Amino acid sequence: MSYDRYNYQPNFKPVDHLFDDRLRQFTNGGGEFSDLNLPKFYDAERKGIPNLKSWRVPDVDGKTARPLFRDIDFSTIDWENIGPGYNFGPSWKSFWVKLEVEIPESWLTHEIIELDWDSSSEALIYDQNGLPLQAFTGGERNLFRIPHKYRTADSQTFYIEVACNGMFGNGADGHPDPNRYFRLNHADLVLPNMEARRLYWDFWILGDAAREFPGGHWEKYQSADICTKIMDVFDPNDLESVTKGRKLAQKLLGDKVDSEAVFDEFNNDKLKRIDVYGIGNCHIDTAWEWPFAETKRKIVRSWTTQLKIAEEYPEYVFVASQMQQFKWLKLYHPEIYTKVKEKYTTNQFLPIGGSWVENDTNLPNGESLIRQFLLGQRFQFNEFGFYSNIFWLPDTFGYSSQIPQICQIVGISRFLTQKLSWNNINQFPLSTFNWKGLDGSQVLVHMPPANTYTAGAHFGDVIRSQQQHKNLRDIPTGLLLFGHGDGGGGPTEEMLEKLRRCRGLANQTGSLIPTVHVGKTVDDFYDEVLEKSNNGLDLPTWVGEMYLEYHRGTYTTQARIKRYMRFGEIRLHDLELVATLASVSSGKYKYPSKKIHDLWEDLCLCQFHDVVPGSCIGMVYYDEVYPMLEELLHKADKLIEDALEVLSGGEAKTETLDNLTFFNSLPWKRSNELLEISQAEQPKLYQLLNNESSNITVKSASEDDTKLVSVSTSNDGVVKLNSLDDIKYPASVKKTSSGQYILSNDLIKATISSTGIITSLYDIVNEREIIAPESTKQTGDGVVGGNQYIVFDDEPLNYSAWDTELYSLNKFKLLSEGEVSILSDNKLKSSILVKNKISDQSYIETEISIQGLLSNTEEVDFNFVKFKSFVRWHEKYKFLKVQFPTTIYSASQANYETQFGVTQRPTHWNTTWEIAKFEVAHHKFMDLSEFGYGVSVLNNSKYGGAIHGNLIRLSLLRSAKSPDDQADMGDHTFEYALYPHKGYLGVDTVKLGWNFNYRIEKHLFNSSTFTALSKAITLEGSSNLILSHIKRGENDYDVNQYDCYKTTSKQKSIVLRIYESLGGASAGVLKLDSKVLNIDKVYKTNALEEEGEEVKLNDKSELALKLKAFDIVTYKIVLKE
Ligand SMILES: [Zn+2]
Repeated sequence: MSYDRYNYQPNFKPVDHLFDDRLRQFTNGGGEFSDLNLPKFYDAERKGIPNLKSWRVPDVDGKTARPLFRDIDFSTIDWENIGPGYNFGPSWKSFWVKLEVEIPESWLTHEIIELDWDSSSEALIYDQNGLPLQAFTGGERNLFRIPHKYRTADSQTFYIEVACNGMFGNGADGHPDPNRYFRLNHADLVLPNMEARRLYWDFWILGDAAREFPGGHWEKYQSADICTKIMDVFDPNDLESVTKGRKLAQKLLGDKVDSEAVFDEFNNDKLKRIDVYGIGNCHIDTAWEWPFAETKRKIVRSWTTQLKIAEEYPEYVFVASQMQQFKWLKLYHPEIYTKVKEKYTTNQFLPIGGSWVENDTNLPNGESLIRQFLLGQRFQFNEFGFYSNIFWLPDTFGYSSQIPQICQIVGISRFLTQKLSWNNINQFPLSTFNWKGLDGSQVLVHMPPANTYTAGAHFGDVIRSQQQHKNLRDIPTGLLLFGHGDGGGGPTEEMLEKLRRCRGLANQTGSLIPTVHVGKTVDDFYDEVLEKSNNGLDLPTWVGEMYLEYHRGTYTTQARIKRYMRFGEIRLHDLELVATLASVSSGKYKYPSKKIHDLWEDLCLCQFHDVVPGSCIGMVYYDEVYPMLEELLHKADKLIEDALEVLSGGEAKTETLDNLTFFNSLPWKRSNELLEISQAEQPKLYQLLNNESSNITVKSASEDDTKLVSVSTSNDGVVKLNSLDDIKYPASVKKTSSGQYILSNDLIKATISSTGIITSLYDIVNEREIIAPESTKQTGDGVVGGNQYIVFDDEPLNYSAWDTELYSLNKFKLLSEGEVSILSDNKLKSSILVKNKISDQSYIETEISIQGLLSNTEEVDFNFVKFKSFVRWHEKYKFLKVQFPTTIYSASQANYETQFGVTQRPTHWNTTWEIAKFEVAHHKFMDLSEFGYGVSVLNNSKYGGAIHGNLIRLSLLRSAKSPDDQADMGDHTFEYALYPHKGYLGVDTVKLGWNFNYRIEKHLFNSSTFTALSKAITLEGSSNLILSHIKRGENDYDVNQYDCYKTTSKQKSIVLRIYESLGGASAGVLKLDSKVLNIDKVYKTNALEEEGEEVKLNDKSELALKLKAFDIVTYKIVLKE
């Protein structure tokens, strides 16, 4: 090489920003220069498909029908001729289009032939035999590469099922637009020029590198330079120039980007380090801006497409969660389900997650969370032969402190989520870490650093997968979850092509872009984390709840589903208890296993992370969820009655009050429980009571005669009427001359102002005032006290069903003009009615009552003020809460019941981490205690609340307008209670929480059989141990629903769930009555009921138990045949 002596023609140095801006012209299909640039060559040929025929599926009962291909008789259809420009609609309707396709003979030798369909909507193409082939999504995915099988010059038929919705339904600003139409933009056959397409992908990544690499790195400028050269060499009249461009691109991308071979190369062969694991997924919300009915079609659309991509890209690994979705696919599209199983065997389509749906973890109770996995893992094992080791939950609205333990007891030690990156106050500090739950159990967590589970597999996503990793010093590896999602869809071919090029760039240029890899599994990723972190020992640990600082309104929105969820959980608890007892005691009774299984599937389905939180469009609730859960309650009631009928032994019934008992489904004694017996609903019982003095006649609101009785568990274990004479502390109410009302039972005394505010609640026994009298910023200047209703302005920054914002706490109106009247004045229950106007459209009426108590001290401990509210609610962006200022002034932590335990949260606002928790989730109670004394607030269907300073607030109703502008409009009833107690938070609150929710059933039945049965399994010892659930063993021959667990044994078993409720190691004794239960063996099991060690009973059939703080344990009692 020689250096010229003379420089006759000087060069200029390119001006970076001008040259970089120019790059966009090269691939801009819609720009004014597109004919002069690469888009000119994308298609070699294109022709419209003529003679399209369409059929709109008629509604059934006024509702959209979505029939399966197999159920349509296409020969009888009256087709309509359509063409481009046709509008499918209106919203939600379903169409089928018939296409006669003739591929020109000359095309057949080409590498790829495509069908290009854009109906602006979701759609699915089927072959003439009804096999789904691939989905289309207007704008996002229009191209269908015609598989070889269908590449023939003969005319052939395809069908396209058109759904009149987009990926995200039909809009949800208030409610979906009912009149949306979807234009057919084109239906073409295309012969693509694949080299031009490939140059487009090459150029995309190199262009991103030029723009996004940081200054000061040669890679940035070399990328820009290559792009410029590609543009300069391009000639719109010479296809060969495309090949020249691709050659230039190879300088930085290498020569392997057209195949999976690119992933076999490494920039540093010695390290062979993978920085980013690319995993395909399509998050399909099981319902959200579309109903379940559409989700069933989204599944087949999304997964068929992914199976096809897996065919075309051998390196591709796709994961799918939610066994409910697998079950639907199996039911409606068994032929696709078979293909899923095939691709599972080649590691390309991997079921993941372990749960029935990707569930909410704030609201479902502990047993529900276990059932999510019991249903999910068992279904998956039956279908695929393995249990998931990863709880896959990218998108849910907060993470209960019990998740690590619940995961561990269902065979899961790994956890994936992403949603915490949405925190709107504090940034969560970790990406890969150990998460330690309430009992000390841990799971290995990864949160994909790109902060999304729907990455477009862009250059920037790969970069962020490393750049935003919070603890690169520990494990410098992250997951990249790519693919269209929320509405399903999943990755596109283009995403795979881009990842190949990102990897090519890393292979050629070094470490400025992370080494992204496609072809490894999620398990491979977690294995590597463990391998490099000394099995997790070297990783940082996050302890306790992972609170999402966002979507705090979801504990309250759509009050009806919260109520149905609580009631449903209770019914299934009661049903499994009575059905279990009936099935092991009576040969006549057949355990309704399939029915119970199906009810659990429905309940768990409704725990999906948009359904129970209240963030779906109205259609989901009004058309699907509410009818489903009402049916569930109804069916469960009927099954409970059937089982009780059997338990009552069918003995001759001379029904007197003496030989009848009420049904208590809780494993401890109950006292002073009040029951209202109405003439209309329980005429027989009402008649019997007519001649008795054990009751008091009251009038219900409907003027239907109602009798009030008090019941308690008697010494022989059954629930009996109490005599009025046994009431030692009678309730009373009186109005004072100054217009106040005094409710009392001589143990506690409530003073209520003339406007309905509790100005004093005095614990006479402990000589303690509970209500704080001081006026504060929150209580205002008027009458200060408890049961103060407070209406907040609730105008969040976005997502009104999801969010309520901090600033709302400063803008509120107190309801302080209540009208008060005495409602009942008798020794069993005395009460007043407080009516408050909320607005011209809304009001709240609350019965405040105190009840009369028996003399026994342990019974006297359950002494509370009860509130029963009716609300007519027609508000807009208001949030109704009720507050109690207490005399617990200096507790720095408050207690909130969570699944199988208690979560503590600060009562102060010291740092932004505490400020963020201005509204939190809880279950049956919240509690504020100091040394020696405390106050609990119980509820029967509420989940939101907060305790700050000495102020307890229970959240009651919201009025969000999007995505359902009717959410919570109408009438509501709910109950709550204020329970002052001696001592710190204790067993009484826990058990009262249960009692307050699990009401004594008004079923009357003969007691003798049930007496023995109800005492056959008892738990004694530390009273903080709760026997929370009794059910039949899932694998029993008469219970099991799955082939893989089939057994020849005719043995029956009983499964018991026991937990420690308050956070201290405890001992107990499980007593089994061998006269009633013919016991063979007892095993300790995990929550999937897999037998662990056999445990030996002593000669009295007793088992000594030791539980650590917040332990959840499961025992299985196997009975002799
Ligand atoms: Zn989601």
